[in-house]
Order: sequence, then structure tokens, then C-alpha cells
Amino acid sequence: MVTIVLDPGHGGEDPGAIGRGGSYEKTVTLSVARRLKEKIDATPNMRSVLTRDGDYFIPLQQRVQKARRVRADLFVSVHADAFVKITARGSSVFVLSETGASSSAARWLANKENSADLVGGVNLGVKDPYLARTLLDLSQTATINDSLKLGKDVLGELGRINTLHKPHVEQAGFAVLKAPDIPSILIETAFISNPEEEARLNDEVYQDRMAEAILKGIRRYFAKNPPLAKSKLARLD
Ligand SMILES: [Zn+2]
Repeated sequence: MVTIVLDPGHGGEDPGAIGRGGSYEKTVTLSVARRLKEKIDATPNMRSVLTRDGDYFIPLQQRVQKARRVRADLFVSVHADAFVKITARGSSVFVLSETGASSSAARWLANKENSADLVGGVNLGVKDPYLARTLLDLSQTATINDSLKLGKDVLGELGRINTLHKPHVEQAGFAVLKAPDIPSILIETAFISNPEEEARLNDEVYQDRMAEAILKGIRRYFAKNPPLAKSKLARLD
């Protein structure tokens, strides 16, 4: 049985990006994540846990902590993108970078997502002082490699139902991707700032197709990387 933690981006006082048609990122991410949860729970040997199942705010670190508490095998954060240019479009998948953002656009986006912690107003960024730094780095490196594989499989499936914003998995310093021992991806489903994509993000049939594509990517990843064959470096608790 594998456990997949689904993280609908934003929530509560943090609406995320707001489309020109008035829809909130926090609302569409929850809809897509709930649909994905249903599909995962209906799949043999898979179960899912939502970091939030309602319209409330959770600091980013708590989302990661929840994933570690349930010993998640994967962490999938669901977002919708926004940009000042109305024509920006397409799906993206991000994994954690070790050296920070891989491009200035990614850096801008990383800052935007990280700033959600300030909205919560609670400083939860304290690292466990007892963790051996070397072990942590080793685990993190292995986890980023797994995250890249997962991201590639999910991006491939997203490319069947939507334009891809970039043809490859991007890397950035999102706080929500920082579990050192759980492969983690952040999906920007589409641009809520693009009126055409905003309309689709609100469409139930499209939300379902989006959830289905993400599930297919996850299943493709597990088919190639069976969880039992994976030797975990360490469970850092
Ligand atoms: Zn977001």
C-alpha cells in the first residue's frame, strides 16, 4: 500500500492567484485534488491523504510535516499558475532544486509560493538540530532524483491534455517540496491568469481529465520504480 499526500495549494486567507474571471487558485486546486484523491483511493494498493479538505490556511511546513507523519511515499502539491502577461499558458511541474531556482521566472514563482508562510504569520522553519547533515544531504539528493523521475512521468501525461509551459521538469526552491525523504512535485495545472485556461480550470470535465492525467503519471512512475524495490536511505523523524 502506497500513501500519496495531495496538497491543494493555498487556502483560507491566502487565495493564491486570482483569475480575471474572478476564480481563486485555492478553489480550483482543491477541486482537482479532491478528484485526484477519489481516483487514487479507487486504485488497488494506493491511498491518499489531503493536507487540507476545506477552505482554510495551512503553513507550508505543516503540509510537509503532515506528509512525513503519515509516512507518505509521494507528495503532490497542486497549484494554478499566474503571470502578468495574459498569454502565458500551459502546465508545469516543479521539483526541488539544490542550488535554488533554475531560472529567473522559476525564482519569481518560488518567492510567490514561499511567501504564503508569511500569511500564516508563524515561524515554523526550525530544522531538527539532531539530523546529521551528511545523511540529510544524501537522502535529499536521492529524493530529488526520484522527484525528477516522477515529475517527468506526470509532465508527460499532462502534455496529452494541455500545452506544456516548458518541455521539461523545472527546479525551484519551493518550501513545500523540502521533505528530505519523500519524492515531491509541485504541479502548476494551468494559468489561471489566462482567461481560456481559467475557464477550463473551472470546468468539471477538465478538472477530471487533469486528475486522471496526474494519476496516470503517478502509476507510470510506480510501474518503473516499485516502492518495495526502493531502498530507503533513512527515515528521518
Ligand atoms: Zn500557487
